[in-house]
Amino acid sequence: MGKILDDVVDSGGIEVIIQNESDKTIPRCQHGPALLFEKTGHGEEKGRRFYACSACRDRKDCNFFQWADEKISEARMLAREEQNRSKMPLFTHQEYFTRFREFVSLPLEQRRFCVDCQMLIFPGEWTNHAKHKSLSEDVTVQRLKRPSLLLCPLDNKKSNAQYLFADRSCHFLLDLLLGLGFQKILCVGTPRLHEVIKFRNMEGKSPTVKSLLLDIDYRYCQFFDQDEFCHYNMFNHHFFDDEEAVTFFQGFLREEGGAKVVMVTDPPFGGLVKPLANSFSQMSMTWKKHNKVSDAAEMPMIWIFPYFFEPRILECFPSFSMLDYQVDYDNHPLYKHGKKGRKQSPVRLFTNLSPKDIILPEDEGYRFCSVCERFVSAGNKHCPKCDTCPSKDGREWRHCDECGRCVKPSWHHCSSCGHCALPDHPCGQSQTGCFNCGSQKHKLRACPKKHNKRMPLPGGRGAQGLSKHITSKCTAKNKRKRTVK
Ligand code: SAH
Ligand code: ZN
Ligand code: ZN
Ligand code: ZN
Ligand code: ZN
Repeated sequence: MGKILDDVVDSGGIEVIIQNESDKTIPRCQHGPALLFEKTGHGEEKGRRFYACSACRDRKDCNFFQWADEKISEARMLAREEQNRSKMPLFTHQEYFTRFREFVSLPLEQRRFCVDCQMLIFPGEWTNHAKHKSLSEDVTVQRLKRPSLLLCPLDNKKSNAQYLFADRSCHFLLDLLLGLGFQKILCVGTPRLHEVIKFRNMEGKSPTVKSLLLDIDYRYCQFFDQDEFCHYNMFNHHFFDDEEAVTFFQGFLREEGGAKVVMVTDPPFGGLVKPLANSFSQMSMTWKKHNKVSDAAEMPMIWIFPYFFEPRILECFPSFSMLDYQVDYDNHPLYKHGKKGRKQSPVRLFTNLSPKDIILPEDEGYRFCSVCERFVSAGNKHCPKCDTCPSKDGREWRHCDECGRCVKPSWHHCSSCGHCALPDHPCGQSQTGCFNCGSQKHKLRACPKKHNKRMPLPGGRGAQGLSKHITSKCTAKNKRKRTVK
């Protein structure tokens, strides 16, 4: 089946069609209701619709595929349901957390974490894991409170991996939200932020903040109770534990006693903007339903994503703005905060909070632009002609009078193309052919190579086939300090 989908994706553009998820006819894979896609490119199959897994881009992780007009036999349906059941986690969330409580009560020398299975194991289970790598010393209560340091980041080659915030960014985010007076933080795909919040609460230095983590990585069931973690898919707004989890989620959104809620999300970058935006709108609608707010109100949100997605995100959320703050990651070879010799992070905050309230750290070079009324990066100089601080990537942009706008410093005005471009651009072709690969046969929108590069389809980083993507390199040693080679 995977082959069919690859062929479909390779031969043209794909658009996601958002459906009403209460629609019970949507076929399901182990990751909940599938997404409906439509081919937009050239070729015979144009316009034909199909369902594919919402969460996984790599067909090896989930090869779910079905033409929308395909009739599925009873037998195939049953086989599919059976397969979905067989892919469920070993234990229920409740069982996982009961295990955790028992685990913590064991004496230190009886606590083990199996690295191969990414599981806390009990003495009675050791023989089953005898051939596996395990951590036996040091599984202290302190370490159990930072599961993101204990678990290996998911390392899915094709869909990328789990990228964990550097402390700098994590504490910046938390301090920012505390400063704005939020008391409840809904962490969507941000396990490290979630655990840092819990950690800070324990230290008792800052005001207590509640946090609920929603993530598809069910390994976190081992460490967090049901009121702290929901096994959740953000591409189809699906709660794996159905009603039970939804109840916790809704309860969390209720701003009892005036405790303000904010949502922070850091989705896989390969992910599709439209289904993500749809899930976040659903959250906002739930928030609205459970609180006395005006009709126009939106749940406060911060969506962490690369800057080149700005047009797509603003299209879905016109009330959002992109901030200059560069988000840093620990285990990513490229995305480190910009100092000389290091690549600057392309990852930014998109938010419906007021930009002027978001104070960016001066010691990292950010300054306030009083015309734009927001903090901008050091290199982002205000352009009076454009009447904005135009830089998206942190470098100083230059105004081109012919184009009538500011452009990247590496671009030059090309008179045959009639606009600014990189010096080695495919000259004279950009207006007729494809902007991505230079082909004259199609436009950018239908470029088959586009999806392999920036906007892989569907799903993206961190998509699940958990056991397969726990890196074999993940040993006891690199668990202490997670740096990247
Ligand atoms: N920077 C964050 C982690 C971001 S990595 C931090 O440090 O906390 C992306 C996160 O999204 C991972 O935790 C991954 O498990 C989760 N994720 C990936 N696909 C998802 C999906 N379909 N639904 C929900 N969460 C998902
Ligand atoms: Zn799937
Ligand atoms: Zn400005
Ligand atoms: Zn300008
Ligand atoms: Zn120009």
